[in-house]
Amino acid sequence: RELPGDPRTDAFPREVLHACYSKVSPSAEVENPKLVAWSESVAERLDLDTKEFERPDFPLLFSGATPLVGGFPYAQCYGGHQFGMWAGQLGDGRAITLGELVNSKSERWELQLKGAGKTPYSRFADGLAVLRSSIREFLCSEAMHSLGIPTTRALCLVATGKFVTRDMFYDGNPKDEPGAIVCRVSPSFLRFGSYQIHASRGKEDLEIVRALADYAIRHHFPHIDRMTTSDSLSFDTGNNDQDIVDLTSNKYAAWAVEIAERTACLIAKWQGVGFTHGVLNTDNMSILGLTIDYGPFGFLDAFDPSYTPNTTDLPGRRYCFANQPDIGLWNIAQLVSTLSTAELINDKEMNYAMERYGTKFMDEYQAMMTRKLGLPKYNKQLISKLLNNMAVDKVDYTNFFRLLSNIKADLNTRDEELLVPLKAVLLDIGKERKEAWISWVKIYIQELASSGVSDEERKASMDMVNPKYVLRNYLCQSAIDAAEQGDFREVRTLLKLMSRPYDEQPEMQKYARLPPAWAYRPGVCMLSCSS
Ligand code: AMP
Ligand code: MG
Ligand code: MG
Repeated sequence: RELPGDPRTDAFPREVLHACYSKVSPSAEVENPKLVAWSESVAERLDLDTKEFERPDFPLLFSGATPLVGGFPYAQCYGGHQFGMWAGQLGDGRAITLGELVNSKSERWELQLKGAGKTPYSRFADGLAVLRSSIREFLCSEAMHSLGIPTTRALCLVATGKFVTRDMFYDGNPKDEPGAIVCRVSPSFLRFGSYQIHASRGKEDLEIVRALADYAIRHHFPHIDRMTTSDSLSFDTGNNDQDIVDLTSNKYAAWAVEIAERTACLIAKWQGVGFTHGVLNTDNMSILGLTIDYGPFGFLDAFDPSYTPNTTDLPGRRYCFANQPDIGLWNIAQLVSTLSTAELINDKEMNYAMERYGTKFMDEYQAMMTRKLGLPKYNKQLISKLLNNMAVDKVDYTNFFRLLSNIKADLNTRDEELLVPLKAVLLDIGKERKEAWISWVKIYIQELASSGVSDEERKASMDMVNPKYVLRNYLCQSAIDAAEQGDFREVRTLLKLMSRPYDEQPEMQKYARLPPAWAYRPGVCMLSCSS
């Protein structure tokens, strides 16, 4: 190969051995590319003046057509378990990092173009992305951030002006779709699979696992590097004194525990807003505990624990809503086993990290549900009874919790008045079910009354954790339908709406509505991996 980084020669698909990344330049074709949406909040984090978006060369820079001065474009090598099976090398098949930007707060942000052309990791695919999936990733990255959920961010969305051919899942016919590129932004895009791939390649590459662990700790977990034995933090893992794990004696163990805990917190937050990722393979698990790789994700409408938005996940439903906490643990088990293979942590430390995942998840989940219900303390029975009722009557997850804060802690409320605040989400329920709900609300009110917190105060704090708006799939789909006709106003409206998901925004009420009938057509609430 003559020129390193020349996409004409450097993007041929191959096994990349003994390396964490490959130098490769963006090569997606563009024809009069257009900037169609951007996030002012990300621009601010990057110290980017919003006037920059008006530069005529902006769409060229952020489609990769013009190289970014000072950039160092590359694609990462990683592997992963897909649907529980080791899949070998995957890697950035269509994401190309442009480089890192250090802002005035000395924060380091990696800028990455998704859909910018082939890389050595593209395998059989084209390295491109379609507008529909790019809109979803752009909007949901920003929506999750505003919901208070750790996530990679999205700076902007550029339509390439070129068409991309995709096999549409439902009618089986290939279709030409408009192409697009999202600029993703994150402190790091390292995944569990970034470590797994090297450990899978034998003894010789274990050195790379260590080097990459050192790199991550130095740059992204500096507090672990600073940790000294004088802190002498140690933890009892159970009844047995021999099980004490001293996290200050091994930075890799401390690191594994922190990744486990961050992942647990992340998934607890997903459960809180009804977010279902859809493809929780180990290559889609961030070592920073961020939501990463938005594909066939979905927010719950009607509460259904077995909901999966991903057609590829049927009928097994490995990645359904209720399974996410267990899958998080399964994925952590893969990561710690990799670190153990590289002799960075021992068996005890490995088990301890997994145990911390479980404990942290339960702590966070219980605290969150307690806040969502505005309860004075966690009440397992009350919450499971509620979730059971919601599943039976297919109650809208978002709207239910939002309305719940209107219940008054008045023990004298007459039976026929009890369900009035919840009327809008308990529409078509029969007499028997009505009674089930009345009896639940009665116990709920007793709990609230025991707290001594005023109705107003409780409502205010509940409304801060129960969003009024989530990025429902049908809302995305409306924006996509218009965008495919060249009208991007709805994309921008949703971006704005979702920047304040906990605010009433009275003029935006229609975006809190349940999915209309058309949303149940295939491809709206059920999505394939084709993107
Ligand atoms: P995902 O299931 O979306 O996380 O993707 C799994 C793997 O397929 C990753 O390595 C992606 O980079 C790669 N991939 C997905 N779509 C494409 C595409 N259109 N071109 C090249 N690689 C792709
Ligand atoms: Mg992925
Ligand atoms: Mg993907």
